[in-house]
Amino acid sequence: MTQTNVLTINLEVADLGILSATVWFSGCKIKCEGCQNQTLLDFQRGMYLDEIKTKLTDLRKITNKIIYLGGNPLDSIDDLKQVIQIASDLDYHQFLFSGYSFDELVAKFDIQTHDFLVQHLDFIKTGKYDRACESLDQSFRFATTNQEVFESDGIRWLKVYDYLNRGDYLNQRDFSFSR
Ligand code: SF4
Repeated sequence: MTQTNVLTINLEVADLGILSATVWFSGCKIKCEGCQNQTLLDFQRGMYLDEIKTKLTDLRKITNKIIYLGGNPLDSIDDLKQVIQIASDLDYHQFLFSGYSFDELVAKFDIQTHDFLVQHLDFIKTGKYDRACESLDQSFRFATTNQEVFESDGIRWLKVYDYLNRGDYLNQRDFSFSR
């Protein structure tokens, strides 16, 4: 039995704007000033893989969307890959929130890990919480305007969202940001 850095999994609307299985990872090496998830910054062991599989199987009856956040899931890459595989087997649409910028993400992992992520995830949001980039625009979905979204075509990441285009593209998608 393998224990992971996933502390809990619940159903939430808040972070995607649609009902999603939400997987909360502990541990983040970025430590943004003003982080709202201070209790998740330290690495802690939590759910076992078989518990995660059971929970995601149950939630799959309610939603086909899953989001990984925390904490910074990419700082628990080995655990994250195992959970992503479970979610793929259950045919979830998968969305990862990362505090790393896209360039940092590219530099951080080997080619096998990048291939795995781009083949299994549908979207990633990149960029740390940056107080200097807070937005007063209520139509802006994310916390700070430096954050971006990339969509996988199965081979590479394509940038689909930034502060200027405000999610119009994603609003037309099955995996949408409905408000
Ligand atoms: S990356 Fe996310 S979890 Fe980590 S410190 Fe920044 S806002 Fe908090």
